[in-house]
Amino acid sequence: KSAGEIRHDDVDSLESHFPPCMRNLHQHLRADAHLKYFGRVQFGLFLKGIGLPLEEALVYWRKAFHRLTDDEFQKKSYAYGVRYNYGVEGKRTNWTPYSCMKIITSNQPSAGDHHGCPFKHFSPDNLRDLVGRYGCGDSGASEVLRIAKAGHYQVACTRLFELTRGEVHKQANRIAAGGDAEGAGGGGGMVETIEHPNQFFDMSFKGQDS
Ligand code: SF4
Repeated sequence: KSAGEIRHDDVDSLESHFPPCMRNLHQHLRADAHLKYFGRVQFGLFLKGIGLPLEEALVYWRKAFHRLTDDEFQKKSYAYGVRYNYGVEGKRTNWTPYSCMKIITSNQPSAGDHHGCPFKHFSPDNLRDLVGRYGCGDSGASEVLRIAKAGHYQVACTRLFELTRGEVHKQANRIAAGGDAEGAGGGGGMVETIEHPNQFFDMSFKGQDS
């Protein structure tokens, strides 16, 4: 199962499958009707990766920036930026969504920025709040925070995935493997380490309703 091609008005309903970095960007975009440059690139390429085509992306971002006039949306290069992400402006490169490593190590966020990886860039209180919204319970949240504090950001993200949807994913694997996925877990590690936000999305989407 894959999300396939999605429309601009599908994005909100898919948020439950977003990893923390993208859920955070999506929620700030909704609240502020704006994202700064690196946030637009990080989230825009992620949406491209989950199957939002260029024409739908242009509608999505125009509606998301609803406090702007059409003229401002065009003149402030927001539409250009969307087209750039899809390789039809500027260098005409078919840009790929950022990996976790790229998000963690480059373009460090400053005040007012919402891009980056929450496991690395959030304060403990903000991270606990965001992780708590995934419904992993107090002890699960504490465990995830401990792993993040030790600097293992992607492991923390993977643990969050396991705590909130790992069993579902394991069942999907068992079905895909023809009924025998014993040993796929072991030691509590049921899913492969998250290396990419789109991997988190794909695994979560694939595992739903299994
Ligand atoms: Fe996003 Fe990767 Fe950080 Fe998870 S580990 S929140 S997917 S950047």
